[in-house]
Formats: sequence, structure tokens, C-alpha cells
Amino acid sequence: METDATTTSRALATEAVHAGREDLAGLGLHAVPIDLSTTYPSYDSRQEAARIDEFASTGARPQGPPVYARLDNPTTARFETALARLEGAASAVAFASGMAALSAVLLARASQGLRHVVAVRPLYGCSDHLLTAGLLGTEVTWTDPAGAADAIRADTGLVMVETPANPTLAETDIRALAHSCGAVPLLVDSTFATPVLQRPLEHGARIVLHSATKYLGGHGDVLAGVVACDEEFAGVLRRVRFATGGVLHPLAGYLLLRGLSTLPVRMRAAAGTAAELAGRLTADPRVAAVHYPKLGGAMVAFEVHGDPHRVIAGVRLITPAVSLGSVDTLIQHPASISHRIVAEGDRRSAGVSERLLRMSVGLEDVEDLWDDLDGALSGRSARSGRAAGHGEGRTAAHVPDPSARVSSPAVP
Ligand code: PLP
Repeated sequence: METDATTTSRALATEAVHAGREDLAGLGLHAVPIDLSTTYPSYDSRQEAARIDEFASTGARPQGPPVYARLDNPTTARFETALARLEGAASAVAFASGMAALSAVLLARASQGLRHVVAVRPLYGCSDHLLTAGLLGTEVTWTDPAGAADAIRADTGLVMVETPANPTLAETDIRALAHSCGAVPLLVDSTFATPVLQRPLEHGARIVLHSATKYLGGHGDVLAGVVACDEEFAGVLRRVRFATGGVLHPLAGYLLLRGLSTLPVRMRAAAGTAAELAGRLTADPRVAAVHYPKLGGAMVAFEVHGDPHRVIAGVRLITPAVSLGSVDTLIQHPASISHRIVAEGDRRSAGVSERLLRMSVGLEDVEDLWDDLDGALSGRSARSGRAAGHGEGRTAAHVPDPSARVSSPAVP
């Protein structure tokens, strides 16, 4: 949805709470209404035809009711407005997942005859796979940021980077990379940073992508993706979304908007804990290396001297699970899970070693998290059922073990 440029001078924390909701008081509402309609009645077919023609040629949001839910949805549009405002973008377009969002970007560029992508490793495993396998008919050249300019060809439609990158937390200088891209748009996957820590468009990127499944939703209960960009490209993305169907459900749009309102508070709290844990891990002789971004954030990656699988099996409070950005702390072994789909040699050369663990720090008390990590690093043995993986064994493994609990410290 297009943003109202007149309100962009507000602080991010204020926008997080108010953007996309400005009309509510006038409607006599406080909470955001959820519009679950799949279709919208109209007694004037000529007018509907004109609106469909307009959408088909420009991808602009239809004035008035959306005609059909694959064109647009008012609840999701509120989330799009808010996210665009937080990123300082003219527009944002939401999708059913982060991968649907990336797919739409690639299809949009390919539809303009620009099938070649220059990309910097590491990327999230499935993003890497989508490009490497050429599943959408695109072709990729992998490079480091310094080699991007040389890798660009006449048919290059996109340069893509994640910063901080999943899972190594490697950081790229967005401004320098944007400069080497020339006229080719730079897409920054800013999932790990969120607009609280980084606004890539201010540094020359043209497209920002989020797996909104992560920090934007923030509670591990919404799968979503969003692209923030200029209005012209947003129009192309909306046409791709309409034609390919990767729309976001309005209930997810509602949850994402609600998630945005606490994003700055969640990010700051989790980042403080993550920085403290990164410091303790750095000083710990059981840990070989710690990766924590200069930018900050709530992700910590570390390499252990011992067996990383024992750490995963030994956590009690922390949940051993893929994904990130929720209120609770998660840990996973990228070489086995999030980046399993990337060929071993490519994984290794991108810095994803077999000893690397990736932790998404949540909102728990730092001492409780450290106690848990400390026990897991000491090789606390796995509880029965924990390693079973699926079904009842897995459910049982999530029941807290009273003997492993520490007494609760005072909550400030
Ligand atoms: N980008 C990054 C950095 C991710 O970590 C992920 C998922 O983990 C994605 C994109 C894909 O997002 P989704 O899982 O919402 O499709």
C-alpha cells in the first residue's frame, strides 16, 4: 500500500504503534477490523471492468472495495502501510511467506526480461536453493560484495544480499554495495535487522525483503513475507501476486500489524540479552568463535569445540527449532537444518561450518538463558524423547522437567 509522505517525520516507535491505523478513531474503532471477504459485491459491472483494467495495467491498489481478495485486502493493506512507513518506502506488498515474496520479486524482474541475479552468500538456505536450482528460470552468479560490479551483465535484474546474513551474521556495507550495482536494483533481505536497526533504502538499496514470519510477527504464529520498494515496482509485484496467488491471509495481516506495534520494544530487549550472551560465549573456553553483528540484534551464532549436536540435545529452556524472531529463544544447527538444502561445499565456503550453531534470542531472563546454555555446553545429556523428533516423543520433550528448573529471579 502507498504511504502518506506527510507523516514520515514521526519517530519509529510512534509509527510502529500508529501507522496504518490513522482512520480508526474516525471509524469509531480502536482495534483494527479484520475483513475476511473473498469477494465484494457490486451492481455496476462497467465500473468493475474499469477498475480491473486499471489494476491490470498499473498494479495500483483498486480505489474502493478490492473486487476480489487476490487483488487486495483492507486489513493486509494496513500492515503494508505500516511496514512501508517503518522502512521509509513509498509502498510495501505482503505475501504468504518470505519465499513467496522473493519468488514474486524474481518473477517480476524475469517478466521484464532480466533473468540474471547476482547474489552474495550466505543467504537463507531456501533462498540460496531457489536461485541455485533456477526453479523460476533465473540464473545466478554468486559473488562477494567486492565482486558484484564485475558480475553484473546486461540481463542482470537484481543484486541480492542478506545483512546480517543467515546464519553467519556476516555484515555487508549496503551503501558501498548499492554503489557498485549502478542502475541494477539492490535487494536487501533485512529480516535479521528489522527497520528498528537498519533501513536499507536510506543507504541506496531499492528493495527490502522480510520474512515477516520472524521479528515482524514476533510470536512464531504467522507465516508471511513483505517487500518494501517504490510504487512502480510495487505495482508489478501486485500484478504478480494477483496472477500467481501468493496472497497473505487477512488474519495474518492483522497479527503482523499487531506484531509491529511491539517490534521496537521486543528488538531492544532481545538485543540487550543477545549482546550479553554473545559476550559470555566469547569468554567461554568451550566456544571456538562467536559471531555477533556490529549492528546489534537478537541473533547470535557460535562455533563450539565439542559436538554441536550435544548442545542442541542438551537445552531445556531454549527450544531446539528452526526459525527465529519469536518471543522465546530458539537454537538450531544450520548445516543440518536451515542450510541443509545448500550443497556442502557451498555451505562451507560461505562460512557455515559443521560446528556452527545459530541462536535466536527471545525475551526470557538472561540468567535463565545462560544457565541453560551453560548446561548444554557442558554436555548435559539429552532427555529421553527429546531426540525422537516427531509425534508424541516430541511433545513429551517440550514438557518442562522440574528437576532442570532454576528458581525464578525477581522480575524487574
Ligand atoms: N529470508 C531469511 C533471512 C530467512 O531467514 C527466511 C526463513 O527463515 C526467509 C527469507 C524465508 O522466509 P519464510 O520462511 O517466511 O518463507
